[in-house]
Amino acid sequence: MKEKIWLSSPHLTGEEQKYVKEAFDTNWVAPLGPNVNGFEQEICDYTGIKSCAVLSSGTAAIHLALILLGIKDGDEVLCSTFTFSATANPIRYERAIPVFIDSERDTWNMCPKLLEKAIQDRIKKGKTPKAILVVHLYGMPSKMNEIMAIAEKYEIPLIEDAAEAIGSKYEKKAMGTFGEIGIFSFNGNKIITTSGGGAMVSNNSEFCKKATFLATQARDEAPHYQHSHIGYNYRMSNICAGIGRGQLEVLDDRVASRRRNFEFYKEKLNDIDQISFLNEPVGFYSNRWLSAILTDSYDTRERIRLSLEGKNIESRPLWKPMHLQPVFSSFPSYDNGISEELFNNGLCLPSGSDLTNKELSRVTDAILSIFE
Ligand SMILES: *Cc1c(COP(=O)(O)O)cnc(C)c1O
Repeated sequence: MKEKIWLSSPHLTGEEQKYVKEAFDTNWVAPLGPNVNGFEQEICDYTGIKSCAVLSSGTAAIHLALILLGIKDGDEVLCSTFTFSATANPIRYERAIPVFIDSERDTWNMCPKLLEKAIQDRIKKGKTPKAILVVHLYGMPSKMNEIMAIAEKYEIPLIEDAAEAIGSKYEKKAMGTFGEIGIFSFNGNKIITTSGGGAMVSNNSEFCKKATFLATQARDEAPHYQHSHIGYNYRMSNICAGIGRGQLEVLDDRVASRRRNFEFYKEKLNDIDQISFLNEPVGFYSNRWLSAILTDSYDTRERIRLSLEGKNIESRPLWKPMHLQPVFSSFPSYDNGISEELFNNGLCLPSGSDLTNKELSRVTDAILSIFE
């Protein structure tokens, strides 16, 4: 059996160790220290946003974002249905109600038309939604002009789940910087990693200041431990932040490699009628975190997936929409069948930034052989 090709492996440079060693040498191994501050500043510089708080995970960042926007028991939050469960789970941590919005075909992300329809319908039912949680899936930006216009029209704050989209841009502006609050993930399988971690970014520095406060057990200023808020243990450690600093230095290279993977697949598989690709609309720049193909049917999708599996190549169906998940199926949803079709017919191919041409060819040869 040939060596396994993984879907998306961590890709370290070795430079991370410089920052980690510094942390060891200076004994800054706690959830504070020069790497934490440095990483936050460097994320601000990279994305062009005012403030950042680095945290233990992207999920923690979404949870704090909802808390900072005052989301409470019974409030409704409009949320992309086509996503990973970590987007929606924090809504339930606060006992709020997720209202799921389906996708459009140009980006596979939240459909602006359906979003507005949902808002009008919720208002008619007597409940104005308290936030919009929009996801840029697989690194592809959502239709931000349309979504921002709707958010402004109805005065609903916008949170961007850019967990998969650091390095992506919409009209030259970094994803995560459009909404009131944006979040990133540095989990092991994401485009850059801190082994595990996340960040909240905002142009309102108060949000990040408060997030840091809540993430470190909400300790009031006093010589003893005094608390007037419920706190969390959500801060990133100085060790993890050190890994993140090394990774951020090579983010643009990582994006270039992932985009090259996508182009490689597209070129090699272009002639197969049963397979299509999601192209970037004008003004959209995707980090191509995962390269995905769309097939003509569930059967084709499964034929490809199982054949790759037999050749020790990992692939994965696209995310199963939240409104179809047993844990969320009882919540309201506005669907048009698109995310369900993407889930049934789509497949993510190996997308690591460390894949060689030889490995990429193993993937495309395996797929081509099915259609010969
Ligand atoms: C990975 C991911 C998250 C969660 O990030 P963690 O750092 O793993 O907690 C949230 N949303 C999306 C879309 C993700 O892909």
